[in-house]
Amino acid sequence: MHCKPHSQLRKSQITGNNISGSSRIRSKALHYLIVLFFVVINSWSAHVCISSQNRASFSKSPINSVKNSHIRHSTTGESSYVFVASLRRHTIAVSVTKKHISIFLRMSCRQALLLSSSNCHGYSLLEFAKEEICLFLKKNAVNEIIFVPYAQNDFNGYTHKIKSVIDPWGYKVTGLHTYPDPANAVMSSKAIFVGGGNTFMLLKRLYEANLVNLIKSRVFEGHLLYIGSSAGTNVATKSIHTTNDMPIIYPPSFEAIGIVPFNINPHYIDIVESVTHKGETRDQRIIEYLDMPHAAPVLGLKEGAILNVNGNTLKITGVAGAVIFNKDKTKTEVPVGTDVSFLLNE
Ligand code: ASP
Repeated sequence: MHCKPHSQLRKSQITGNNISGSSRIRSKALHYLIVLFFVVINSWSAHVCISSQNRASFSKSPINSVKNSHIRHSTTGESSYVFVASLRRHTIAVSVTKKHISIFLRMSCRQALLLSSSNCHGYSLLEFAKEEICLFLKKNAVNEIIFVPYAQNDFNGYTHKIKSVIDPWGYKVTGLHTYPDPANAVMSSKAIFVGGGNTFMLLKRLYEANLVNLIKSRVFEGHLLYIGSSAGTNVATKSIHTTNDMPIIYPPSFEAIGIVPFNINPHYIDIVESVTHKGETRDQRIIEYLDMPHAAPVLGLKEGAILNVNGNTLKITGVAGAVIFNKDKTKTEVPVGTDVSFLLNE
């Protein structure tokens, strides 16, 4: 992949126990100082998150995860103490050695294609997105994809359906359910495609397999390409509050992977179904969500629309446009080709 985060840190070997007594105390002291620093910059938030396991805080805090480790550089043999904090859009790494302190700020390397749906009127399955998916994989030199069929119950049948479309494009698709350890499979994969179906079921299964935080960190570090369609797009966002699905099962949380910090409504349609239909329109349902204190802006992706995420650049691509529901409940039409990167700052 193009983007190599923490390249200086990657040359290192984690040894865990290579710092002598007094420098260990110094390192500990420094560690607490640095933690204090992040606590202070995070003080506007009521919830301070020191561990990504604390999911409630995780969603509210600008600091998504904090890690630290002792590292011995394989070339110089020099020991350093490294503290890494992932913020919403960036990763900050502070490396402390006997001689100097270095601070690295890395922009997010996330790369994702978030499709409104796999089906689009006038096209065969995924046909409207073929060119973009192929380009996305090709430019990252990826030729194998793990398909995540968790949103539906027939894992084999669903994987076969997607495989029979994508394999002929020159890529090898395998189902995540065929691996004995899904987390290991995701760890060693360069691209996943999360298919549509029921969003609640999908998110529940992702949590059960401990994949939510794993996928997030692999994507943000630039090691994993994410392709999502429909429910697979819903779970890539801040939360699944704006799915169109029925809550047929409880996931442990509605908070989702968070590749983007706002919500998406897939299959977005803005026409009133019929004059005799008296149920709420899609817009009314989205506005109900926007009334909530935890609401984020909503990107309504029309069928055939794709949100192309490349680091901090977000663009509407595909064959149909989108609609942004802003927090003040105004609505903005965004045609194909629009740069919507500003949504990262809303
Ligand atoms: N059920 C949809 C899908 O995966 C998701 C949604 O409409 O929210 O196709």
